Order: sequence, then structure tokens, then C-alpha cells
Amino acid sequence: MSDIAQHLDTVRRRIADAAQAAGRPAASISLMAVSKTFSASDVRMAHRYGQHLFGESYLQEALEKMTELEDLRATLEWHFVGPVQSNKTRPIAEHFDWVHSVDRLKIAERLSAQRPEGLAPLNICLQVNISGEASKSGLVPEEVVEVATRIAPLPRLRLRGLMAIPEPAATLEAQRLPHRRLHALLDSMRAVGLDVDTLSIGMSADFEAAVLEGATIVRIGTAVFGERDYATH
Ligand SMILES: *Cc1c(COP(=O)(O)O)cnc(C)c1O
Repeated sequence: MSDIAQHLDTVRRRIADAAQAAGRPAASISLMAVSKTFSASDVRMAHRYGQHLFGESYLQEALEKMTELEDLRATLEWHFVGPVQSNKTRPIAEHFDWVHSVDRLKIAERLSAQRPEGLAPLNICLQVNISGEASKSGLVPEEVVEVATRIAPLPRLRLRGLMAIPEPAATLEAQRLPHRRLHALLDSMRAVGLDVDTLSIGMSADFEAAVLEGATIVRIGTAVFGERDYATH
């Protein structure tokens, strides 16, 4: 068995254990394998081992991988999780199934206008700066409901929920806090009538905490593919 297959087994088991501890069905959590910096053949290996959601952060790299993996297109989903520059929205709208990192109205308007008519609506999440870090992108929590209310009616988009990258924390309890705050924010969107179902939280270092707090998509890179080498990026 390849390393990637073994890692996938381990991560799936850990998600199932955390789901059980949370009293949630394991099937309510989707595993996204974040394949940025890894090769198309690594993605193909994971796909062969039953992995269907893949996350990418660097547009050019992602487009090259998609070309190499065109034969698998019908059976995998591409999720964009990196910062979205407004001059890069067109290829994102044309090639991805989801964008988790929408952090302003203007980006959503561009994705809406540029999503091709023949494709299913583009699923989007709003990225929230849940730990209040000055250096992090994302909406501040106080503006989420208002921005979401403006984005929800845009054509060819489907607003699914919220995404965050909390500050690293050492203990399970400390990791749970920002995830809990994001869940409360999703509830406040529902309270104003928005039909949202997605909490995109949890990375290699904190996905059990995220599952305990209601994650519906966990985004795992290192624990699936190994350490990233950024030398070429
Ligand atoms: C790289 C990345 C991940 C995966 O991080 P790991 O710690 O390797 O699991 C998840 N989410 C986003 C937005 C990322 O950029």
C-alpha cells in the first residue's frame, strides 16, 4: 500500500473516531485532500484510493494539474482554498466546483458574472478571520451576515457556508474555541433565513477539534500527502 493510501486510511479513521465522540455520523464530514505543491500523480493515487475532493491554493499549479487529470474530471471535485485576486476570478469560476475563500462582495460578484452558464452553480464559502489576526485575510465576524445577505441572491453561485483558518493552538480545548465561534456565526446566518450547510474548518493539526465543533468539510494536506516543499512555489 502506498504512503498516501495509508495516510488516507489513518485520517479517515481519525475523522470517524472524532465524529463518534461528537455523536455525529461520520458521513456528515467530507474529507478534502489539499494537494497544493503535490503532483498530479499524487492526486491520481489518492483518487484511486477513493478520495474525491481536492483542494488547491495556487491557480496556475491547479490548472496544470487539472489538465493532466482531465480523464478523472467526472469523479472528482476541485476546491479553491487560496487567496482570490480579483484579476484571477475568471479561470477560478470556469474550472473549480467550490471556492472556500471568498472574502468580499466584489469577488463574489465577479465569480457570479464569470461562472459559465453550462456548469452547475459555483459553491462558495465566505472566509472569516475568526482569530482576529491582523495578517490574515477574511471577513471580520461582525460583517459576515450583511455580506452573506448580499451574496446569497447572486446568480450562478450557491452560498454554502463559512471557512476559517484559525490561529494555531496547542490544546484540543484551545483549538475548539474559534471553531465554536464560526459555528455560532453560521447559526446567525441561518437565523436570518440563509440556507447554509457548510462549515469548512479543520486542517492536519486541528481537525479533530473542528469535527467536535461541527465541521462538515475538513481540509487536510500534510496528514494525507506529507510535508510540503515550498522551494518551487
Ligand atoms: C494548505 C492548506 C490546508 C492544509 O493544511 P495542512 O496543515 O497541511 O493540513 C488547509 N486549508 C488551507 C486554506 C490551506 O491553504
